[in-house]
Amino acid sequence: TSIDDGLRASDALRVLGRVFGYGSFREGQQEIIDHVVDGNDALVLMPTGGGKSLCYQIPALVRQGTGIVVSPLIALMQDQVHALTALGVRAGFLNSTQDPDERRQVEGAFLAGELDLLYLAPERLRVDATLRLLDRGSISLFAIDEAHCVAQWGHDFRPDYLALSMLHERWPDVPRIALTATATPATHAEIAARLNLGDARHFVASFDRPNIQYRIVPKSDPKRQLLSFLRTEHPGDAGIVYCLSRASVDKTAEFLVANGIAALPYHAGLDARTRAGNQSRFLREDGLVMVATIAFGMGIDKPDVRFVAHLDLPKSVEGYYQETGRAGRDGLPSTAWLAYGLQDVVQQRKMIDTSEGDDAHRRRLASHLDAMLALCETVECRRTRLLEYFGQQGTACGNCDTCLTPPESWDGTIAAQKLLSTVVRLARERRQKFGAGQIIDILLGRMTPKVTQHGHDSLTVFGIGTELGEAEWRAVVRQLLAQGLLAVEGDYGTLVLTEESGEVLGRRRQVPMRRDPERPARAAAKAAK
Ligand code: ADP
Ligand code: ZN
Repeated sequence: TSIDDGLRASDALRVLGRVFGYGSFREGQQEIIDHVVDGNDALVLMPTGGGKSLCYQIPALVRQGTGIVVSPLIALMQDQVHALTALGVRAGFLNSTQDPDERRQVEGAFLAGELDLLYLAPERLRVDATLRLLDRGSISLFAIDEAHCVAQWGHDFRPDYLALSMLHERWPDVPRIALTATATPATHAEIAARLNLGDARHFVASFDRPNIQYRIVPKSDPKRQLLSFLRTEHPGDAGIVYCLSRASVDKTAEFLVANGIAALPYHAGLDARTRAGNQSRFLREDGLVMVATIAFGMGIDKPDVRFVAHLDLPKSVEGYYQETGRAGRDGLPSTAWLAYGLQDVVQQRKMIDTSEGDDAHRRRLASHLDAMLALCETVECRRTRLLEYFGQQGTACGNCDTCLTPPESWDGTIAAQKLLSTVVRLARERRQKFGAGQIIDILLGRMTPKVTQHGHDSLTVFGIGTELGEAEWRAVVRQLLAQGLLAVEGDYGTLVLTEESGEVLGRRRQVPMRRDPERPARAAAKAAK
């Protein structure tokens, strides 16, 4: 009734103010909170920083009983519980890091009805003892955070999440709210199916982050490019630099420090104390640059991260979106900057080829990578492409690199034919496969020791590609890879044809390509010492 509505709305608003100290709801929050407070199921897609946590924390405080939160990362869980406790919310967690005493204490509080929120790792719910414990207490709701982890086609699948479908069977009357910051339409549907959320209302917020400027530059000398980006555009700003490997995190952090930038490393190879110390300095102090693997960032709530830079290609568009989404949570202008090169593709293909799991899994990884490559090589607005990837509409933003400096497109058909026929000739005439470096040397007619050693100067294609330079040929290779007209394989990143290559060689297919615009950043990078 309307009287109840009035009471309930004021309850939620009062909790928002009294407990969390905020004056008003953000877009979408009120509706979601009302829906869950009323005892209904919800599936929430909201970008990072949108304010998902309150969507289950407030209903848990308003409803009778304890809200059970399933969260995949132990560190994150502990942070959340600390933050809530500091606000006076009665929160606890159960995970493998606790000793039996601590665990008993939390269990006791739950059974006594003294907890508003109880955080659990998904694997806990596979243990019978946990289920029996939950049976004996009073539950206000189930919140399933990072719900995309249940989707096998997603980018971050965790098998333990599959068991969560039983929540509905075992506790049919308890409302469930599943939340995620990334989901393509297919992943979205898979989450609903796997979590038995058929009747849940779907709340889909816009994935647009208008204050983030997306830029993707060709990688030449990544550390120097980064340095010049930081010096010219973000001096003294806080930001995150992502690298693929621990070794490159360490090297990059050292390089930045040696060049006068306040940078800290973060990766799983550092001891726990250093990691925690660096993380809390990054959160507390102004203007620090965190150089990290993707182990860093989930649940990091720092509003004034002014840039997120990637020195290596993310494995998927979802990952890219999630990582770049950590910039500009305060709504102020921020930059998402990525340097990407051919070597990234070679390296990632190799990782996919050698990854554990079945063929279907490898195909999945490959399709994620392909989507990421397509985003890098697009001539369209980056933001629009991102939104479309998540099934949302956008118009050219006027702020990303392709909007600001539209890349020229050119007809790369002949170049593609030359490159592909070099690959064909090596395979047919010599039974050889080579990586991009050697193929490009052949096209450019360079008499390198390796060319001489293999007698590649006697190939008819030797020197037929002098109209382009080395960097341009590398761009051609990248784009052929992105368009599925060429593939890389093996430890040495050798180039091989795909089924579709024949269409180009047989002159049945045109190959449009983008020309990398010469950007000021590159000139600046050369000038930096
Ligand atoms: P997400 O989980 O969607 O990434 P969080 O729940 O961590 O986002 O919220 C991001 C930040 O926004 C947090 O600092 C949170 O306290 C803040 N926030 C959320 N809702 C509101 C609100 N209604 N008013 C002000 N700040 C809010
Ligand atoms: Zn744009």
